[in-house]
Amino acid sequence: MAVHSVSAAPSEQFDDFYSMPISEKRLAKHRIPETQSSPRAVRALVLDELALDGNSAQNLATFCTTWVESEVHDLMDECLPKNLVDKDEYPQTAEIESRCVHILADLWHSPAGETTMGCSTTGSSEAAMLCGLALKFRWRAAREAAGKPADRPNIVCGPVQVCWEKFARYFDVELRQIPLEEGATGLRPHQVREYIDENTIGVIAILGVTFTCDYEPVREIAAELDALYDETGLDIPVHVDAASGGFVAPFLQPSLVWDFAVERVVSINASGHKYGMAPLGVGWAVWRTAAYLPEELIFRVDYLGGDMPTFALNFSRPGGQVVAQYYSLLRYGREGYRKVYEAASSAARALGERVARMEPFRLVYDGEGALPAVSWTLKDPGAAGFTLYELTDQLGRRGWQVPSYPLPADRDETVIQRVLVRHGIGYDKLTLLARDIESCVERLTRGETGPGTQSGFHH
Ligand SMILES: *Cc1c(COP(=O)(O)O)cnc(C)c1O
Repeated sequence: MAVHSVSAAPSEQFDDFYSMPISEKRLAKHRIPETQSSPRAVRALVLDELALDGNSAQNLATFCTTWVESEVHDLMDECLPKNLVDKDEYPQTAEIESRCVHILADLWHSPAGETTMGCSTTGSSEAAMLCGLALKFRWRAAREAAGKPADRPNIVCGPVQVCWEKFARYFDVELRQIPLEEGATGLRPHQVREYIDENTIGVIAILGVTFTCDYEPVREIAAELDALYDETGLDIPVHVDAASGGFVAPFLQPSLVWDFAVERVVSINASGHKYGMAPLGVGWAVWRTAAYLPEELIFRVDYLGGDMPTFALNFSRPGGQVVAQYYSLLRYGREGYRKVYEAASSAARALGERVARMEPFRLVYDGEGALPAVSWTLKDPGAAGFTLYELTDQLGRRGWQVPSYPLPADRDETVIQRVLVRHGIGYDKLTLLARDIESCVERLTRGETGPGTQSGFHH
């Protein structure tokens, strides 16, 4: 008998889920079970399976939030039933979304920060679709007004994330992707001209190239387009894909001119769930002023007896991520974001210095000047005696997720390894990673990589 009297039914009290019938069966995988099961047991078994996933605290491959304060967990829980689309039922959630848009518009120097258009999305991918559509609709309207054909739009960019390939394919726009020049980490301004014509709906500049973590020079790309306009009359807008840099540059590189301060920039997207410090499931699209979001794309929904303009691919969406984004903006402020990313950046640079001292490596990005990250390549892949893919594999044995991948065309002969440093990844963890890299490299160069060739398992 239990020492304390408890109100739970005795069978509940003493059941251990590993002694329940459900734990003796395989969990349903293709058909819904006929009967119900105990919530405790199902929860335990599902969590047990999820434990086989990689450990997100050691995931150095992702840009996305993997650590949040407990207050964010509370807010997410409280917001579970709130549907972002129900503006009438949840007017304060709608209000909070709108405040976030205007805070970001102001942070990114919109000339109409308090009145411009913008929206939350599920991430930068949805935001890219929306901003791309706005570019396409504006271009089409201008072409039709000029009595010219508007059936073959193209968009010009450097090494973009896959969301832009999706945008191009889903919405019938030709993607003109400019290959990387020798030694380049992103699009270079002088490259854009020859890819542009009267059917170009816009140029995408990336603040935080996924593959190299570097910022493309938005101001210089815009200046090149200004010159093109003066010479040819082609007036090409710039969209900035600031998926990661949008929440880093304003705090770590405040003097960098990349946002609406550049007149040619008409829209910006960013991922709240990357360096925005919101949990997974939120991104942002913001237009320079309301004039850059064509009216035909806007749907009006009832809102407290009035109407509210909305622009989204989805209908129902959770409110929690948007509320958590607002929490992060209020909680950290400029000071907090700066401090967190200064710490992340200095931890990344320290890792970079240590990797640079290791014989086989040459740094590709040392963590200075753009995202808090570091990447490296093999100085001499032929002579190293191992590949970076093998090193990724070895590090995986300690749980570290450190990806290796080739750079985009035309630098795809270079394979690099990249570590992203975010909120929740501290100096000490990276020191442990560095030590593991050193010992993996030592084993790999000695050719000791197979199972059982380490010091071994002792009973
Ligand atoms: C991550 C990323 C995206 C896609 O963002 P999601 O929020 O994951 O949809 C787009 N562009 C760049 C540059 C990115 O780094």
